[in-house]
Amino acid sequence: MRKKIVAGNWKMNLSLEEAKTLVSELKVNLDNQSADRVAQNASNLPVVVLFPPYIYLTRILDVFYNYEGVSVGAQNCHQNDQGAFTGEVSASMLRSVGASHVIIGHSERREQFGEDDGLLAEKMRQALKNDLTAVFCCGEKLPERESGKHFQVVSDQLHKGLMWMEEKQLEKVVIAYEPVWAIGTGVTASPDQAQEMHAYIRSLIEDKYGSRAAESMSILYGGSCNAKNARELFSNKDVDGGLIGGASLKPADFFQIIQSF
Ligand code: PEP
Repeated sequence: MRKKIVAGNWKMNLSLEEAKTLVSELKVNLDNQSADRVAQNASNLPVVVLFPPYIYLTRILDVFYNYEGVSVGAQNCHQNDQGAFTGEVSASMLRSVGASHVIIGHSERREQFGEDDGLLAEKMRQALKNDLTAVFCCGEKLPERESGKHFQVVSDQLHKGLMWMEEKQLEKVVIAYEPVWAIGTGVTASPDQAQEMHAYIRSLIEDKYGSRAAESMSILYGGSCNAKNARELFSNKDVDGGLIGGASLKPADFFQIIQSF
């Protein structure tokens, strides 16, 4: 059965004190939730993945060391193993501190840092080589949707970014569909729009890798997902959770999203 996942992308937000407060509140809620679930014998909890800024990674990893159901990853990695790349962090470094996940291809990296499909494929190789689970982001811009090119755009991003892999490698990949027009805008894709694109993405995986790979792939929705709309979005059969930006900075909202299955 494929995993349900709720991931929090903090981006470049929070002081260390604020980050500590956020995770300690989250942990209290998760502890209580686990106790409730054990009492009810229920097990449909999503995996939670936190993506703090690099500088807080080891602190947050310590908080959730050996804590079942919470993983910690980075928002980016460099495409090389090591060397003269001032200011950069490699996938092997992430692995060495205990990170398990990395986001690759977020639209802010594509747009503001000029990361193209070729570079993103290199980053995916690094992530896999270092045994990280890569959360690969794809999604169209508004004019692309308005001109009916959104399926083609997403298909191209997926083919170039990750569909060169072997089937086995897909086990370490999660796809996040994040329409650029919905990120940080307060405009969310409708549940039907999300389901339609997620089903399309799954069909691309199926065409190339077969139904087993397609059925095992977790496909997350991202883009102004919040405590109010998460349940409706996640109720779609091809939406396996969310990559959450702004709402992941508010402990109560993020926790409500975690409970939206
Ligand atoms: C994101 O940046 O991945 C994201 C989904 O942001 P927001 O939830 O704020 O739209």
